Amino acid sequence: MIPLVSTLTVEEQQAWLASLSKQMPERSFGLFSELSQTQKSTCEFAIVANPDPNDLADLPKLKWVQSLWAGVERMIAELPEASFKIVRLVDPHLAETMSEAVLAWTLFLHRDMPYYARQQSQATWQPRPMVRACERRVGILGLGELGKASALRLVENGFSVSGWSRQAKQISDVTCLHGEQGMQQLLESSDILVCLLPLTTATHFLLNEQTLSLLPAGASLINFARGAVVDDSALKSKLDQGHLSHAVLDVFQQEPLASDNDYWQRHNVTVLPHISAPTHRGSACQVVAKNLEYYQHTGQIPTAVDMTRGY
Ligand code: NAP
Repeated sequence: MIPLVSTLTVEEQQAWLASLSKQMPERSFGLFSELSQTQKSTCEFAIVANPDPNDLADLPKLKWVQSLWAGVERMIAELPEASFKIVRLVDPHLAETMSEAVLAWTLFLHRDMPYYARQQSQATWQPRPMVRACERRVGILGLGELGKASALRLVENGFSVSGWSRQAKQISDVTCLHGEQGMQQLLESSDILVCLLPLTTATHFLLNEQTLSLLPAGASLINFARGAVVDDSALKSKLDQGHLSHAVLDVFQQEPLASDNDYWQRHNVTVLPHISAPTHRGSACQVVAKNLEYYQHTGQIPTAVDMTRGY
């Protein structure tokens, strides 16, 4: 039996087990709590979603785990010495969903929707000068599975797009930058900055007082990555100074966002409840099936997280 090791509610876990069984009727899946001692002592593979590290420690023969989430920073932090490989969810449908969200909220900012919503609440009739998409510079931090798909979708929609990654890249019609200087260049030329970086020791509070100051006056931020990539007090102060005009935030250091956090009340912040790219059960189970099949046929573990790099 392949265990699902998770701290999700039992209902959520049962829904996952049903989808996994539907996708792979030839395999048997079950809850971690249903494993016998013998099964625990021989288990080589597990499916994980917010697992309790103690449960994983109970599986001494574990070779690899398949995460149902794309972001695995919590597992990496909790299991720095893991003797097994962590394979995160790389799902083309997730990238499509994220690119749709990036396009939607880029258009929201590009077409001044926060500004006109505020005007309506004040019964003010004041058109702003029109800016064409090709004149709107969108910078994307992170050109991985989600960043690249988002960059291409923005290009398709006529935006002027730059992106930043750790290693040099080439993506047609996207200005690809890397390294410290590349980041500075990207920030200085982004009217809308989209964050799609994994949370690692290198990206923690990467968007801080100093780096946010590099953005052009009146720029906006979309953070769809992880809350702790942004230093909240620096962001709030940049919004208060008017240096940044708006922030669309889908992710927070503490989720759900506390009811007394003043992000909720700010007219220049859009708060979203971590919805930009939810895992889709059906397509995630197809990815899991493909990875399991690949392992069964080749004996190779699918591409796993690099624990030293942190993503
Ligand atoms: P990915 O494929 O691993 O891509 C990460 C990108 O970030 C890569 O381009 C990588 O550069 C770059 N990067 C990492 N560290 C860097 C650094 N120190 N300096 C410069 N570039 C750096 O990840 P992904 O699948 O696109 O996902 C990105 C993140 O999105 C996830 O980690 C997760 O936190 C978040 N996410 C959010 C939601 C949501 O609903 N809000 C949903 C899914 C995922 P290289 O290409 O050079 O390696």
